[in-house]
Amino acid sequence: MEQTSFPPMSRVAICGGTHGNELTGVYVVREMQKQKVDKLGSASVTAVLANPRATDVCRRYIEKDLNRCFTDALLRSPITDSTPYELRRAQELNAQLGPKGSEEAVDLLIDLHNTTANMGLCLIFYSLDWITLHIYKYIQSKMTNVPVRAIQLDVPMSDAYSLESVGKHGFAIEVGPQPNGVLRADIFNAVKSAVDLTLTWLQEFSSGCTFEGGEVEAYTFAKHVDYPRDPAGEITAAVHPELQDKDFKLLRSGDPVFLMFSGETVTHEGEELYPFFVNECAYYEKNIAFQLARRTTFTLPSICLGN
Ligand SMILES: [Zn+2]
Repeated sequence: MEQTSFPPMSRVAICGGTHGNELTGVYVVREMQKQKVDKLGSASVTAVLANPRATDVCRRYIEKDLNRCFTDALLRSPITDSTPYELRRAQELNAQLGPKGSEEAVDLLIDLHNTTANMGLCLIFYSLDWITLHIYKYIQSKMTNVPVRAIQLDVPMSDAYSLESVGKHGFAIEVGPQPNGVLRADIFNAVKSAVDLTLTWLQEFSSGCTFEGGEVEAYTFAKHVDYPRDPAGEITAAVHPELQDKDFKLLRSGDPVFLMFSGETVTHEGEELYPFFVNECAYYEKNIAFQLARRTTFTLPSICLGN
């Protein structure tokens, strides 16, 4: 098996509250700030509350979804009097933790999210990145009380719209089910463990450990599915009870996906795929009832510290 080396990772950012009503990340970050966690061996650790105004009022965002503001085009757009708060904030975060795509960017950026869907603990990342996949493999091998999965969204980095794309390496951690504005201890502990395991992995990496390659199972995004709607755009169905809470359970042709308010059942047709973000609260406004993925196996090289 080939071995790949990576330069030292000396700056790490842990972000939460990108969505102000997803409370796990808000409190993990506040605890890190209170305990003044700012060092990890020779690396610096920055805990960042990403959207403080939305967090203050416990809303997803004030004017615009912050986690859709980190494309190259939006980060470069000029600030005017009518620029939404979140776009200004995205440019501030890019100046603090990036700039995205530059040598000055933090080496690893983790952004903590919650979902109302029954997704367990899920790492979400863009391009194939051995560092992210090795951290995923490590977390999965150590955490046994929560299902740990990973999803790749195949978006080029210039169009990558979320905060973690600002780091040289980065991923979001989505954990649920947890309602917005609610803090659950089991989910808090799962996220805290995932953050601690990531920092332990980094310490071992920095001290010269070689992480053996191998195979990991992950998911790749296939498509969004919207609710059935009437001509005026109003939804005419809810997620079917047989699909509700069944994130990552293979959806076969003929399986129920929606229960129409009229009583009929709508079924899935075509390719067998894995549903995720099933009935996510925040996605009603994005016209997404659930998303579908393919399961895939990635073969990782061994990795170690190099120059
Ligand atoms: Zn979120």
